Amino acid sequence: MIPSQFDYAAPATVDEALALLEQHGGGAKILAGGQSLIPMLKLRLAEPEFLIDINRIPDLRYVEERDGALHIGALAREADLDRSGVVAQRYPILLDTAAVIADPLVRNSATICGNVAHGDPGNDHPATMIALGAFFIARGPRGTRTIPAHDFFISLFTTALEPDEILTEIVIPRPADRSSGAYFKLERKVGDYATAGVAVQVTLDDRNACIGAGVGLTNVGPTPIRAARTESFLRNKPLDEGTVGQAAEIAAEEADPIEDRRGTPEYKRDVVRVLAARAIRLAAARAAGTTIPTPLPFTYSPPVRDTARS
Ligand SMILES: Cc1cc2nc3c(=O)[nH]c(=O)nc-3n(C[C@H](O)[C@H](O)[C@H](O)COP(=O)(O)OP(=O)(O)OC[C@H]3O[C@@H](n4cnc5c(N)ncnc54)[C@H](O)[C@@H]3O)c2cc1C
Repeated sequence: MIPSQFDYAAPATVDEALALLEQHGGGAKILAGGQSLIPMLKLRLAEPEFLIDINRIPDLRYVEERDGALHIGALAREADLDRSGVVAQRYPILLDTAAVIADPLVRNSATICGNVAHGDPGNDHPATMIALGAFFIARGPRGTRTIPAHDFFISLFTTALEPDEILTEIVIPRPADRSSGAYFKLERKVGDYATAGVAVQVTLDDRNACIGAGVGLTNVGPTPIRAARTESFLRNKPLDEGTVGQAAEIAAEEADPIEDRRGTPEYKRDVVRVLAARAIRLAAARAAGTTIPTPLPFTYSPPVRDTARS
């Protein structure tokens, strides 16, 4: 289909972009990588009267660690994560996440900020940002706000961003020593949105007990879900198989999926259970500096009733 008619501007500064947003009220949309917005325009699922293309604003494309945090600018692309040494070293969960988003073509254009601003519960970064305890920096006519990732996702395709605000940056506090994370996703075919996904970030003490955990779930509810009960359960426990299995069961309970072409709620909860166990194991191994054999992300072991679960 052909999009409905819209006007277009490519401002040179964030202030100009904000002025245009204010001028057009709810009728304007920010265009970043265009990998979600353009398909929606073509399907006429979105019909903005004005597009504000932020791609010509300089100095918004960065992934850098400073002041004790990783800063991801509004125009940083998925592919930029792969090129970052500090991400590879300290934030492997971000690489896990980017690697399972679409394909290289999409990842060369799609921005990480756009991925979260879109508010799609099927997008992969939101759960990871929740697990990492990220903050989203929103600029608008009333100034700058800092919104914790776990408060950002309000309902289906609705975030805490006001229509006149721009998400200028994601800030991820630098993980403590002996911290790491992992993201696992089941997809029907390579490049698909998640049937379910689980993000886990853990911090271990020097005896490998978990002293902090962040857990986020993808596409098993109307918004990305913070699995807060799983996080509390993991805290102050050794991450042995008993703990991992129980935590994975709790994560499955915290999922709130609906039936669709990707499966029944029961099936999706079970996928969460399997992926949560795998993500906790891998996050813990990375945090401890050890290695474990990891199953391929797209494999799924169905439950066997009344026997030990994976
Ligand atoms: C074939 C295909 C497969 C895909 N598969 C996956 C997948 O498996 N997992 C996944 O997570 N994603 C997937 N995506 C979506 C992709 O990651 C999107 O690019 C991403 O969701 C949006 O980022 P963008 O920069 O392209 O944003 P755009 O498409 O430009 O914008 C998306 C929305 O966010 C708003 N927006 C963007 N940036 C800002 C900002 N800085 N401030 C305020 N609002 C902003 C826009 O106004 C718009 O409403 C897929 C896309 C395609 C085309």
